Amino acid sequence: MTTSYKDTLNLLQTDFGMRANAKVREPELQALWHELDLYGRLSRDNPGPVFTLHDGPPYANGALHVGHALNKILKDIINKTALLQGKRARFVPGWDCHGLPIELKVLQGLKGEERAALTPLDLRQKAHSYALEQVALQQAGFERWGIWADWQQPYLTLHKSYEAAQIGVFGQMVLAGHIYRGLKPVHWSPSSRTALAEAELEYPDGHVSPSVYAAFPVVELPAALAEALGSAGITTSDLAVTIWTTTPWTLPANLAVSVNGALDYSICASSGAGNLIVAAELRASLEATLGQTLTPVLQVKGAALEGIQYRHPLLERTSPVVIGGDYITTESGTGLVHTAPGHGVDDFNTGRKYNLGVLCPVDEAGTLTAEAGPFAGLNVLKDANGAIITALRDEGALLTEAPYAHRYPYDWRTKKPTIFRATEQWFASVEGFRDAALRAIADVEWLPASGRNRIEAMVRERGDWCISRQRTWGVPIPVFYHRETGEVLLNETTLAHIQGLVAEHGSDVWWQRDEAGLLPEPYVADAANWRKGSDTMDVWFDSGSSWAGVVQERGLNYPADLYLEGSDQHRGWFQSSLLTSVAVHGHAPYKRVLTHGFTLDEKGRKMSKSLGNVVDPAVLVEGGKNEKQEPAFGADVLRLWVSSVDYSADVPLGPGIVKQLADVYRKVRNTARYLLGNLHDFAPERDGVPVEQLPLLDQWMLQRTAALIDNVTGDFERYEFYRFFQALQNFCVVDLSNVYLDIAKDRLYVSGASEFRRRSCQTVLHLVVERLAGLIAPVLCHMAEDIWQNLPYPVAERSVFERGWPVAPDAWRHLELEAPMAQILELRALINRQLEACRTGGSLGASLEAQVQLTLEAAGEAEPLRQALTWLDQSPHPSVDNLADWLLVSALQIGGSAPATVLSETIEAGIQVRVAKASGHKCERCWHYETDIGSHREHPTLCGRCVAVLTA
Ligand SMILES: [Zn+2]
Repeated sequence: MTTSYKDTLNLLQTDFGMRANAKVREPELQALWHELDLYGRLSRDNPGPVFTLHDGPPYANGALHVGHALNKILKDIINKTALLQGKRARFVPGWDCHGLPIELKVLQGLKGEERAALTPLDLRQKAHSYALEQVALQQAGFERWGIWADWQQPYLTLHKSYEAAQIGVFGQMVLAGHIYRGLKPVHWSPSSRTALAEAELEYPDGHVSPSVYAAFPVVELPAALAEALGSAGITTSDLAVTIWTTTPWTLPANLAVSVNGALDYSICASSGAGNLIVAAELRASLEATLGQTLTPVLQVKGAALEGIQYRHPLLERTSPVVIGGDYITTESGTGLVHTAPGHGVDDFNTGRKYNLGVLCPVDEAGTLTAEAGPFAGLNVLKDANGAIITALRDEGALLTEAPYAHRYPYDWRTKKPTIFRATEQWFASVEGFRDAALRAIADVEWLPASGRNRIEAMVRERGDWCISRQRTWGVPIPVFYHRETGEVLLNETTLAHIQGLVAEHGSDVWWQRDEAGLLPEPYVADAANWRKGSDTMDVWFDSGSSWAGVVQERGLNYPADLYLEGSDQHRGWFQSSLLTSVAVHGHAPYKRVLTHGFTLDEKGRKMSKSLGNVVDPAVLVEGGKNEKQEPAFGADVLRLWVSSVDYSADVPLGPGIVKQLADVYRKVRNTARYLLGNLHDFAPERDGVPVEQLPLLDQWMLQRTAALIDNVTGDFERYEFYRFFQALQNFCVVDLSNVYLDIAKDRLYVSGASEFRRRSCQTVLHLVVERLAGLIAPVLCHMAEDIWQNLPYPVAERSVFERGWPVAPDAWRHLELEAPMAQILELRALINRQLEACRTGGSLGASLEAQVQLTLEAAGEAEPLRQALTWLDQSPHPSVDNLADWLLVSALQIGGSAPATVLSETIEAGIQVRVAKASGHKCERCWHYETDIGSHREHPTLCGRCVAVLTA
């Protein structure tokens, strides 16, 4: 083609780049949002209701990973959708700032002598600074991902106002009688020297305990049992109760042996260890384990064993056999349970029933104390087990020992085993509000629904919540103890006073001041008698108070409309928030809880440095050191990933997935670019065609767009973003690229600039591109804004987000177009296959070189298509609704005689298709084959249509 004819075509013109150039362009668009104060204005001034998605605070430690991206971007998609829908969706981002990991980080950064000289206040100030640095780093990352939030006023659990609100929650629970102090076995970490919450435990594979079977000699029998045994020839002098334990170090704390009253027990004659009492069901397996024959002499119910007295094999005391609970089974062991109330929850409860007392001869470092007699000084995680097993053997009490692999709780931070240890701790009495909590759970909508079962079971079964920690970096438990009597001072007056001090000075005040400076007026004179407590609160109490410290404090919806976190938070933040809210107000802090899974690599493995499969979101967005190998994909590709996954399960991410996402991103971008590029000379007011006057093809495209809007609106309402991801691709690739735009090329390029067939198409393009931008805005927020900023005609809104959520007018809805259009698109696919076959065979080049003859069978299968063709034929706009154009061939003939030379022929479903070379010559401008080429003297290489365009 000569240059001059090319110049007569209406080619693409747009500044909207083919490439995203995200590293530069995304920050520019974010700066625009900032300049327009978009989030601020929309979240404040929108006409709709307040919408509160309350942010669960990530821990202020460490670089952002893809788990953070999944969580925060999901929240942002929901918030941006709400803002587009006119809601006042304020999002206050938070950080969890207290706790041991930060405390340890600070300590690790100090030299030995610095550490030794460190006062609690120094430590707290260093931890405070460290947390703020981490918050700043993480915040910069979140902002780079395009997350909208109150970044100027996030919530930090170390803020004075937050700490004061938290003490307020604690105080209300105290006054409601839900907080008590008690000696109780708690998960204790000797390595951290602190009590741990359930959520701070992990259960690594491969833990093996040195389990022992031991015989405790009976010294006294209840009368009835003595009689029965006597008639069988057994006396106390040769009888022992048989126990099994996986924690031999707890044997010095043994105060009873518990049995299940309903189980059957056998008194057996053993081949080498005298007469032994074991559960009847376990007798056979114990023969193998112990290497003894066990000949049953007498069988009794467990209840009959109650009252037996036995001698501790290692210490000078006798203890009773008692009835425990259903926790005593025949799944393992002997059916008789060694009971140490200081070292186990079941044991503690049984001990309380029998007034056994609580013996806990283990100090905070896990060292056995003087109460452990000869074993004092041994450590329960090191040498205690071996020494005690040896002592059992020496006493003749050891039946056997065997390594035992089982789930065992470890400290999630130090990765060392924990123990149960009775200590003086502060508890929230879950028993006191368990029923209310279960009712509150029933009032919440859990998504997915299985979340309800999870949290319900956890709340139903959980024990009281140990909320005290023996650490420094946290919110103090604001209590005073009498120096002489140990009496606790904790009442409305002291609570209100401390809350006020913390609101004014922050919780450092607890460490800065002595008792006289902390006690309220009626107690100050007596300050010398009081000692302030040194415990801090469990960090789950910190974050679990956020409904008070943030949601209520900032005037958001309480209960919040939505909480959204990983599915592990049923035992973490969802639960701690629920418990505090129920304890204080009797209802859950949320109306709806949505959970997401965890991020894995493409093979379903955890991401880890050692596997080398970590996807760093910073590198994905901004590129790596070598951008050839690690290009900058931009935040939108990361966001697109979040939208693409079914996050109700664990979600994969890896280089292959990123590549696919980048392809999808490019497809959407290029589709948008094509729409924008064809609108450069279009002014909607001047050139737009009224929707009702559009050709059928255009009306169909608007119908498809309306359907997309409806579907995507539903997908977002149900938080099923992966359906949006699929619908978006389908719309861009199939409806737009493969059909509408494919057919539209001729209308857009070849027609005269202001011809009806072009202006009608542009009308559709401008309507579609604006809606497309709106629909992708929650996910591909940068691309959506980039589209908006490149609209080539003036619009009232400065940002796509000011336009609001796309709505399809009723005039776009023409469901009746779908059926005939589906028929024609099927025909189009059939003919394309024929054309493709000809192309492969070399008999044809471009589809415009072809003409097609179509013959429909008289009746039957071809009937729907015949009706569709009649429908098309009756269109008032034959210049657009033209089957040959839609098929991209130069000529179409329905019925009649066959073309002279048929290149390909097929018959399917009553439809006969013949493909032949188009007659005439190729027009140099529009590439159609026409028979009138050469008949125009000025333009001898052009068809009549093109000549008309040029001479108009
Ligand atoms: Zn032409």
